[in-house]
Parts: sequence; C-alpha cells; structure tokens
Amino acid sequence: MCGCERFYVKDPDDEYEIHEFDLQGVLVVFTAKKVDGGGPDIEDETETYCDNCSWHGKFKELIKPGSGANHGKT
Ligand SMILES: [Zn+2]
Repeated sequence: MCGCERFYVKDPDDEYEIHEFDLQGVLVVFTAKKVDGGGPDIEDETETYCDNCSWHGKFKELIKPGSGANHGKT
C-alpha cells in the first residue's frame, strides 16, 4: 500500500528535474539538503506527484483532508 508521505514537484524551469519533499501536515520539507533555499515555491495550483504510485494533483488537493495525502488509505 502507498505510504503517501513522500511526494515531488517538477522544476518550473526544467521539466526533467524533480524536487522530492516530505509532507508533514501542510508543511513541505524538501529532502535534498544540497538545494539552496530548499526548492521551488509550491503554491495551491502547483502540480504534485506521489513518489510511490501514479497519484498526482494540485497542492491544494494534496493538503485537503481526505484527499491527496490520504490517497490509497482506507
Ligand atoms: Zn501514492
């Protein structure tokens, strides 16, 4: 079953570059510590992708209770 705590966004300047992050509540914590400033800005409309399965959706869907971050859970 999907763990659903690790997600990523695509770099706005380079679609082949991704930035992984952990979702802690509604807080985005980028996992790549080498990135200055943590990573790209994530806004409500930013498309986010699950690292474990094919789920993806806007950040506002991801943090909505009973939606994105809980996908795959029963
Ligand atoms: Zn998933």
